[in-house]
Amino acid sequence: MLSVKQKKIQKEIGTQKGLRWGNWRWHLKHSVTDVDTFELLLGIKLPSHLREQFEKVTARFPMSVTPYYLSLIDTNDLEHDPVFKQCFPVQEELDIVQSEMADPLHEDKDSVVEGLTHRYPDRVLFLVSNSCSMYCRHCTRKRRVGDPNSIPSRSVIEKAIEYIAKTPQIRDVLLSGGDPLMLSTKYLDWILTEIQKIPHVEIIRIGTRMPVVLPYRIDKELVKMLKKHHPLWINTHFNHPRELTASSCTALKMLADAGIPLGNQSVLLAGVNDCPRVMKSLVQKLVANRVRPYYIYQCDLSEGLNHFRTSVGKGIEIMESLIGHTSGLCVPTYVIDAPGGGGKIPVMPTYQISRSTNKVILRNYEGVITSYQEPDSYQAGFCDRNCAKCNLQLPTTGANECRSIGIEKLLADYDETIALVPKNNPRHGRRQ
Ligand SMILES: *Cc1c(COP(=O)(O)O)cnc(C)c1O
Repeated sequence: MLSVKQKKIQKEIGTQKGLRWGNWRWHLKHSVTDVDTFELLLGIKLPSHLREQFEKVTARFPMSVTPYYLSLIDTNDLEHDPVFKQCFPVQEELDIVQSEMADPLHEDKDSVVEGLTHRYPDRVLFLVSNSCSMYCRHCTRKRRVGDPNSIPSRSVIEKAIEYIAKTPQIRDVLLSGGDPLMLSTKYLDWILTEIQKIPHVEIIRIGTRMPVVLPYRIDKELVKMLKKHHPLWINTHFNHPRELTASSCTALKMLADAGIPLGNQSVLLAGVNDCPRVMKSLVQKLVANRVRPYYIYQCDLSEGLNHFRTSVGKGIEIMESLIGHTSGLCVPTYVIDAPGGGGKIPVMPTYQISRSTNKVILRNYEGVITSYQEPDSYQAGFCDRNCAKCNLQLPTTGANECRSIGIEKLLADYDETIALVPKNNPRHGRRQ
């Protein structure tokens, strides 16, 4: 069922044989990239300051909005509208501040072959598409948006798959982009098939914003294809409860009914969702639609995002308002993706207040302070990593063993490391 606004937009754009509102290709073909069409389709005149800066901002960071996402804008309160803020370019994007970087997460720097970032031991980020149906203003990969040179060719994809095939530690392949669902169903089927031929790959994940910005992309043909590639997980990107429309919910239902576990990654954005009540409503609606909130990201240090950034304290306040107050299923992990390629670091309110040799002092969400008495009798087994002789019955055949990393080294009995010291530590430099 189209809303009155959607019917009006459809009429203005016009339909072609078989191509109309419910068809995803129609939305791609008519994605809005200029300010005149933006005004025309919404039947509004933008305030002059928004019009004037448009060309200047889009010369650097282009705009593209699907007619569907455009139709969700509340024109009565444009400048506070969460949908408008996520899709319409503003002057502040050009205020690059000193702490910002084109590639803060070192995705290009850490890339092992073109399009593939192998940051964590057992999983890779695979950028299979560089295009999106809607250009999010808060995109962390803003540096590449709309750049035709960074569309991966078939041979780039093949080389990345070769790397995965010859790297047995990789058990999880995360397809991202751009939006992988911008690829044709047939091409994506080929990529998924090739990855699945690799025996050590246990799961594939797809990160996509289609259920939010173009839910009609989730059609029967796509779902039928995806179902062939289990175990397949999908993570999507809802930021505000207003985005969970009837069409979005239908798309989510089709995916969930196909047995695909769904997760959601939100970005904490000033003026969009930096409010405990907005976030609580979002995560509860997601769970009601069988989507498990997975991460809330602190906004990255990518160029042009300063106006979207909140303090970390706002994120902690939001986590405080979720944990204990609503179902554990609704509670995502709040993370900061470390600049310089350090990866995602979880940040949480503090629940452990103190401890003694055999007691932990904790506080709960209500402010109750409590104590947990630890057992006197617990004897941790000495671990020498001789798992075959251990009585915990870890099946060691085919176990994919890797050396301990980081803090794990300091904790482990079998590792003799006693300190982790930065490479250029000046004190060590002064040693004789
Ligand atoms: C986020 C990310 C992953 C996946 O991380 P999970 O915590 O497993 O979801 C993998 N590789 C890179 C480079 C990433 O940024």
